[in-house]
Parts: sequence; C-alpha cells; structure tokens
Amino acid sequence: IIQLENITKYYGDFKVLDNISLNIKKGEIISIIGPSGSGKSTLLRSLIQLEKINSGKLIVENTIIFDNNKKIDKKLKKDILLKMGMIFQNFNLFPHKTVLENVCEPLILVNKTDKKEARKTAIDLLKKVQMDGKENNYPDEISGGQKQRVAIARALALNPDIILFDEPTSALDPELVNEVLNVIKNLADGNITMLIVSHQMNFVKEISDRIIFMDKGKVLTIDTPKNIFSSENKRINDFFSIIK
Ligand code: ATP
Ligand code: MG
Repeated sequence: IIQLENITKYYGDFKVLDNISLNIKKGEIISIIGPSGSGKSTLLRSLIQLEKINSGKLIVENTIIFDNNKKIDKKLKKDILLKMGMIFQNFNLFPHKTVLENVCEPLILVNKTDKKEARKTAIDLLKKVQMDGKENNYPDEISGGQKQRVAIARALALNPDIILFDEPTSALDPELVNEVLNVIKNLADGNITMLIVSHQMNFVKEISDRIIFMDKGKVLTIDTPKNIFSSENKRINDFFSIIK
C-alpha cells in the first residue's frame, strides 16, 4: 500500500533520510524505532507530505505521490493524502472547540457532511475511543490520554486507510499511556495500515507485524518483532540497553 524507492531528504547539507526503500502491505502494523535524531519523525512527515522529499519515489495506493522524474497528478495526490491520517505527540486539538466539534470539523470541512450527520458519526467515533460522555467538554477540561483519544477519533473521521502515529504517548503521564495504547490496539483490524513511532517496547513487540530500526537516516533493518528483539546487531542492542 506504501512503496518508497530510494527516498532521500536533506535539511540544508544534512542528509536526514538516506536512500530509504520500503514496501508496506495493506493492513500491516509497522513500528519504527531507533535512536533520537535518526529520522523517524521526518520519515512519517515525509510520507504525508508535511516535509518535502528531495529525491526518490513515493507511491501510496498505486498513486505516485512523489517522483522527481515525473509529473504528479495533483488531484489524485490530494485524494490519497486524505486517506492518510496522522497523530502527533501533542494532540493538536482545537482548544476553543468542544470534543464533539473537534471530531466533526474534518467531516464538515473536508467531506462536506451536513452538521446533523457529522454529529452522529462523531458520536459513534467517540464511543469507539471510549470518550462518550465527554462530547461537550473542551480540550483543557480532559486529561492528556483523553485528548489523544479524541485526536484519534478525529483522524478516524475521514475513514483513513493509513494512520501514522508519531510518539502518541510520549507526552502522557505513565498511568495514561495504556488507555491510548489499548485504543490503538483495537484499531488494528487487518484493514487499516498503521505506522507507529513509539518508545513503548512492550507495545511495539505485541502489536507490530514488522519493526523498522532506523539509524542515522537509514533503515538499518526491517524484520519481525521476534527477530528484532533477539537481534545480535550491536546498534540495535545499544539502543535497547539505553531505552530499558
Ligand atoms: P526523536 O526520537 O528525538 O523524535 P527522530 O528520529 O524523530 O528523533 P527527526 O525529528 O526525524 O528524528 O530528526 C532527524 C534529524 O533531523 C535530527 O538530527 C534533527 O535535528 C534534524 N531535524 C529535524 N527537523 C529539522 C528541521 N526542521 N530543520 C533542520 N534539521 C531538522
Ligand atoms: Mg521524533
């Protein structure tokens, strides 16, 4: 569902993504781990085109999103990007809108759903992330874990095929981490494709079909949790010894 061929990106002279090639299948749950500064966030942000790629080829759902040798069909690209959602570390909710309005917003603005229908869908989505009962609260009236669950409901509103999570629990107090991880686990239904940057190694081990280990802008390896966690690679082991 996502193909990267020799994706390279620079910040100035600094090569932040170094010739990355990957082939991610529909429904796969892929986690991305690796040292700080290895390019994990940049990779996710480049996939959703929040960052400019310098060279290589990116294909999502058989549509060319980036190719420095070819002209891109802008309309097709826009449609595909709408099928991708992203969840950030810091929730990014609209502070002056209620929980319900936050989830309705993309439905009304992007899908042009009428208000009544949008409300109905939003209420269902909030149930799915166990946030029913909080529809009329404002973001500053709910916990961090609850905010993140609302952000997930909002991302689900456009019925994405692919969701990218960038450290969805790293801004949360430890006791709130599991409620968010459980919601993410429940989304994994074999249909939706997920790419997750996370430092929660137990979660990563449990949920992932495959794990990408990034180091200095490169994909050092992509393999099953079993193989990654029993790897004898020094850089992988050094990482695990720091994180545990
Ligand atoms: P972390 O685990 O700390 O979140 P990461 O693997 O997500 O790290 P990135 O945020 O992708 O790493 O950053 C990769 C490298 O690119 C880092 O060296 C970072 O300093 C650099 N970098 C990130 N964003 C920018 C930017 N906007 N301009 C210049 N350099 C940047
Ligand atoms: Mg990051």
